[in-house]
Amino acid sequence: MTSNEIRQSFFDFFESKQHTIVKSGSLLPDAPNLLFTNAGMNQFVPIFLGQANCPYTPGRAADTQKCIRAGGKHNDLDDVGLDTYHHTFFEMLGNWSFGDYFKKEAIDWSWELITQVWGFPAERVYATYFGGDDISEADLEAKELWLRHLPAERVVPGNRKDNFWMMGDTGPCGPCSELHVDLTPNGDCGAGMVNADSADCIEIWNLVFMQFNANVDGSFAPLPAQHVDTGMGFERACSIIQCTQNFTDFSGVISNYETDVFTPIFNALAEMSGKQYTSTLPADPAKQTEQEAIDVAFRVIADHIRCLSFSIADGIIPSNEGRGYVLRRILRRAVRYGRTLGFTQPFFFKLADTVVESFGGAFPELVKNHARVSKTLKAEEESFNRTLDKGMDVFDAILGSTKSKTIDGADVFKLYDTYGFPYDLTELMAREQGMRIDEDGFERLMNAQREKARADHASKKSVVLAEDGGFDADATPFAGYETTQLETEVLDV
Ligand code: ATP
Ligand code: MG
Ligand code: MG
Ligand code: MG
Repeated sequence: MTSNEIRQSFFDFFESKQHTIVKSGSLLPDAPNLLFTNAGMNQFVPIFLGQANCPYTPGRAADTQKCIRAGGKHNDLDDVGLDTYHHTFFEMLGNWSFGDYFKKEAIDWSWELITQVWGFPAERVYATYFGGDDISEADLEAKELWLRHLPAERVVPGNRKDNFWMMGDTGPCGPCSELHVDLTPNGDCGAGMVNADSADCIEIWNLVFMQFNANVDGSFAPLPAQHVDTGMGFERACSIIQCTQNFTDFSGVISNYETDVFTPIFNALAEMSGKQYTSTLPADPAKQTEQEAIDVAFRVIADHIRCLSFSIADGIIPSNEGRGYVLRRILRRAVRYGRTLGFTQPFFFKLADTVVESFGGAFPELVKNHARVSKTLKAEEESFNRTLDKGMDVFDAILGSTKSKTIDGADVFKLYDTYGFPYDLTELMAREQGMRIDEDGFERLMNAQREKARADHASKKSVVLAEDGGFDADATPFAGYETTQLETEVLDV
């Protein structure tokens, strides 16, 4: 199956179970405390909270939701390019019950879809359930339901972090049950590899059973209605189906990047750069061969162009504050990886054409906003290109003159302030050299600059700096809105 067919078969399956197929919500969330939409349930929060009526009869929906996890509570940016299954931008397939069906149907349908419709070998699947702790009881109901499909050794209890889902400190919440797939050549990874953050056994689907409301005092009360909220990693499902030739061969590389979700972007990149992707995975960024560095660059750039294209199409524009600065950081990171592939002129914006071509059918907003995406990317890229080479020379000079293993905060600040190097880009470059950076020193200088900007602003002299929330942009609570009154003009290098 192509990825488009896999997505469609998910919709068809849930449509056959009386679900209304709905459109993905925007990447720009309604909730002010979120940087980006990061889960399928975001657009349905008002229904779960009882603030909006469920518009579907029966109360069932399914969709693919555009998600970004590159800041705030869910931040997978550091893994991107170094593993095979975490992206900044990804699609989360989901099915929902709003006070309609509950655990039994959710579990049985997930099982039916993956094993009967798609053909996942049952003997490679693990299911987890909430194992209980001093706050809440174990979800033995889910355990029993899974035992109808799986042997006891593959029904595994999990802890609060992995198997009890909360939207925040308060609000709808409940235990969750997840499906994990053994991807080792012989299918013998063992239950210990579940939730071990390993490519040998990856999580594909999370089924959340919303049955409690978390109160302010920390207690849990049963909700008047019980809901189901599921999320499946679309690219992960594609990788398992496609890279194993429909589950017939688990001996090769199983990677999201080796699916038709990414190959068109890789092909365009190979053609433009004259370099080839060979798909090795380096264990340590500081010990890469030249080809491994090229492979990482392919993965990072392909990931980042999807993130930027989809965001800009949804009206989130790179800037100096809040979520816009997260995007600018991601773009600058991609441009710098472009140097690894030999690009010295703008190249990144051209890949947007491939993204629009590949995903414009499922997401027409990409087609509609194609021109804006390309134009915005090109301008951003040109502007960063003007200081990137000089900044990289400065970085090399700093390395040459540093005797310790830590790069001085003042140097990191100089790269940020004069050459437009986001903190995390410098950190990444340092990591590649086996070095660390002096975060406290950098933060002190940033704070001093923010203070100065505030003072200047207050005295209406000149406005220099936006508080970007930048290198540690934490989405909860999101600080950006407090600072939007500050004009933003610095750093447009
Ligand atoms: P993981 O443990 O692999 O980081 P998660 O537990 O953080 O995943 P959930 O919040 O449960 O993920 O999201 C539901 C599903 O979305 C996951 O089961 C996974 O298949 C997919 N997913 C989560 N994060 C990413 C990502 N960064 N890139 C691609 N798919 C993802
Ligand atoms: Mg995660
Ligand atoms: Mg997980
Ligand atoms: Mg999970």
